[in-house]
Amino acid sequence: MSPPTATPPAEPLETRLLINGERVPGLGPAEAILDPATGERIATVREASAEQLEAAVDAAAAAFESWSQSTPAHRAQRLLEIARHLETEAEAYAQLESLNTGKPLSAMRRDEMPAIADVFRFFAGAVRVQTGPVAAEYLRGHTSMIRRDPIGVVASIAPWNYPLMMAAWKLAPALAAGNAIVLKPSEQTPLTVLKLADALAEILPRGLVNIVCGRGESVGAPLVGHARVRMVSLTGDVATGQKVLAAAAGNLKRTHLELGGKAPVIIFADADLQAVAAGMRVFGFYNAGQDCTAACRLYVESSVYDRVVAEVTHAAGGLTVGPQNAPAVDMGPVISAEQRNRIAGFVERAAAAGHLSVTTGGRVRDGAGFFYEPTVIAGARQDDEVVRSEIFGPVVTLTRFTEAEQAVRWANDSEYGLASSVWTRDIGKAMQVAARLQYGCTWINTHGTLAREMPHGGLKRSGYGKDLSLYALEDYTVPRHVMVKLG
Ligand code: NAD
Repeated sequence: MSPPTATPPAEPLETRLLINGERVPGLGPAEAILDPATGERIATVREASAEQLEAAVDAAAAAFESWSQSTPAHRAQRLLEIARHLETEAEAYAQLESLNTGKPLSAMRRDEMPAIADVFRFFAGAVRVQTGPVAAEYLRGHTSMIRRDPIGVVASIAPWNYPLMMAAWKLAPALAAGNAIVLKPSEQTPLTVLKLADALAEILPRGLVNIVCGRGESVGAPLVGHARVRMVSLTGDVATGQKVLAAAAGNLKRTHLELGGKAPVIIFADADLQAVAAGMRVFGFYNAGQDCTAACRLYVESSVYDRVVAEVTHAAGGLTVGPQNAPAVDMGPVISAEQRNRIAGFVERAAAAGHLSVTTGGRVRDGAGFFYEPTVIAGARQDDEVVRSEIFGPVVTLTRFTEAEQAVRWANDSEYGLASSVWTRDIGKAMQVAARLQYGCTWINTHGTLAREMPHGGLKRSGYGKDLSLYALEDYTVPRHVMVKLG
């Protein structure tokens, strides 16, 4: 019996773009959209043409005029309607997202859909309670006050690992703040955003959000370079971030960059090692490791190193890998054959190095789809490629340390700076280490858990944009000073 695959959608998949409130087929080249669990084509989406991109920016610029002048309460109401829509249709979105990305359907239902709807709820509330310096006569005879105003047309460019979630992270704060948007989903995973387009067209003013599909070079780059786009928000690769920055230099656009990660996990001998193994089982392999915060780079204190290697190996080896609907599935395929082959390349080079041992996994799974086994690599050294580079797949490395100082130095010795964690029962030690880690987030005795009220974003080559929280609202607005001369 062949394993169950994703349930085919009851209705034909929506593949049309959203431009100025209308659903229109793309007029550019066609892109095949695949089910990563089978490798089969599930839809064909045509890219936006240059003229369509122009029309999308025009529509957004026109819609900005009145939306930017609307009250926070009015905008909040619209965001709450989007949240309600996502909650009502959660099952359909969960099915579609898992079909397009290969994620376990259970994870979409349990983890992602409630979090996605809540992003809109959070920003609906947040925009009504913004704070700042008080108005006062800082100069005698003059009253000064601070405004926080929207920026204009925002180009929002999303990756393939959490397509609807990343769209929500970009849409909700930008809309709450009063901006207009041209959103480009990843060319590999546009389907849930294309489904959302109908609700956006119904709930929001015409042209406020436009959705254009296509590849980075053909659609993303001209969008980023467009003179009337005032801000670019990108979640993606470091190399893409660099291209976006170079293109944004033309008219000095604001940029909001959320780039890659290589999260260090420092495990001290006094940690709850059962919790460590259970944590790595989840946070090392969630979304098949295609997560910029994945717990992928473990530094383990020498006295418990062998035990942690054994337990993490056992935990990873016990994961159930399969297609979206397989019983008790923990991990799905990776997004594409290219991504799977890239992961395999890292592991093959590591295995060939001699001093590293692959303690579980390390293989492409036979059969259809883009499956790669959950993989643990022990004996890793700080200068190994698997320790330094973002693999973005289900691969966890372990490195032995003897002094806390050494662990902190190695953890910080990375071009990335997004997420990190410390595992110990000594809270004083945990706080000391957390204070020294150069990462946007440090978890203590957990990893990878997000709260909408708290910022998500990085340092160094992981970028500097903040998603979620009031900081995102700051990123999508500009503080302005208004001064009144009295008398
Ligand atoms: P990617 O950079 O290849 O693509 C991201 C998006 O950028 C896609 O929509 C793509 O079409 C577009 N793009 C590519 N080239 C472009 C260009 N020249 N101009 C404009 N747009 C362009 O990344 P990906 O492979 O889709 O996603 C994986 C990467 O995203 C990983 O490196 C991962 O770490 C990162 N990521 C970061 C975060 C975070 O919060 N920091 C979250 C998720 C993913």
